[in-house]
Amino acid sequence: MARPEPIRLQRRGDVRLSALPPLSLYVHLPWCLRKCPYCDFNSHERASGDLPETQYLDALRADLEASLPLVWGRRVVSVFIGGGTPSLFSPAGIDRLLADVRARLPLEPGCEITLEANPGTFERDRFRAFRAAGVTRLSLGVQSFDDAALRAIGRVHDGAQARAALAEAAQAFETFNVDLMYALPGQTPAALQADLDEALAFSPPHLSVYHLTIEPNTAFAARPPAGLPDDDAASEMLDAIVARTAAAGLERYEVSAFARAGHRCVHNQNYWRFGDYLGLGAGAHGKLSFPDRIVRQVRWREPAAYLRQALQGRAVSNEHAVSADDLPFEFMLGALRLAEGFDRPLLAERTGLGLQALEPGLQQALDRGWLQQQGQRLRPTARGFDFLSDVQQLFLAAPKA
Ligand code: SF4
Repeated sequence: MARPEPIRLQRRGDVRLSALPPLSLYVHLPWCLRKCPYCDFNSHERASGDLPETQYLDALRADLEASLPLVWGRRVVSVFIGGGTPSLFSPAGIDRLLADVRARLPLEPGCEITLEANPGTFERDRFRAFRAAGVTRLSLGVQSFDDAALRAIGRVHDGAQARAALAEAAQAFETFNVDLMYALPGQTPAALQADLDEALAFSPPHLSVYHLTIEPNTAFAARPPAGLPDDDAASEMLDAIVARTAAAGLERYEVSAFARAGHRCVHNQNYWRFGDYLGLGAGAHGKLSFPDRIVRQVRWREPAAYLRQALQGRAVSNEHAVSADDLPFEFMLGALRLAEGFDRPLLAERTGLGLQALEPGLQQALDRGWLQQQGQRLRPTARGFDFLSDVQQLFLAAPKA
């Protein structure tokens, strides 16, 4: 087979990096049993027996091979298989995917390998087989244990399946994540407490809790569900989540993520610290650094188009070099999500910029009490966490005259 042409990098910005950041790998598997009405991810309905699994794995392999020249010599610190519903793929398929990756990219010893799974695809042997294939961390999209709430947000599983899947995840994996959502249609504070109590009863090493938001171009945007809690009620729910998780020994290390010591998500932390990631699969985004530029890539979004293009070594539909003017916002977008914030040397290493490049936003954020500075470190205050998107906006580049 002819070797695919290396991807041409389009533009060089005035960026100078002294070191390359850690490299992660994201793999997108784009199918779900049913599209949830709030979901704006690149996910497409497909019955589980109807997946073009082998073809898609071939396309991912071709995509990876075409991408190798961009990451020669670099080791991968984490792999995240997301979706969609990756657990719809067979364990043999996930095993092949990881074998294809290992044969082409060196993984750091103990590399975190996360697979997203939905309780609706739960079978005991399946979860164990994912573990045997090399998955080290399962991320379970539970969202709620309340059957009525799960129906209201269009999930295919019920509370009993969520409990069974969690019990198995706790047995089969040393570390796992539970995704919960709050501000669900008709949800009361007591119902939220019940969801938290149920989740925490499984002693999850990691919990992610997301506000149900109505995103454009979703079924909920066209027909919003009745009974959504208002902003004040949602904010009180978030306070309750923060208090309850802290009492259970989970640290809120990121705006939506709570973990026990030693169980923070390596992969997501690399995103938030402006690390690099190669994104493979339909619609996957990537960010790759070079000594003189930082490049963002997007792959063909429609699975059929991706399959066609990736098999010809042309998986990337769009790529651009990030301009130096956009780097402060791009860096702060992730760094401000972390409770520990960031050190000045990290900003310099990842972007080539000094703190002065963050002005005037930095001073405004300090003046408003949204950020605090301790020596080399800048971190969001509790108030800054509450107004995260306002704080992030302060670092947008001024429009060019
Ligand atoms: S299971 Fe997840 S990815 Fe699939 S449609 Fe629902 S929210 Fe979207």
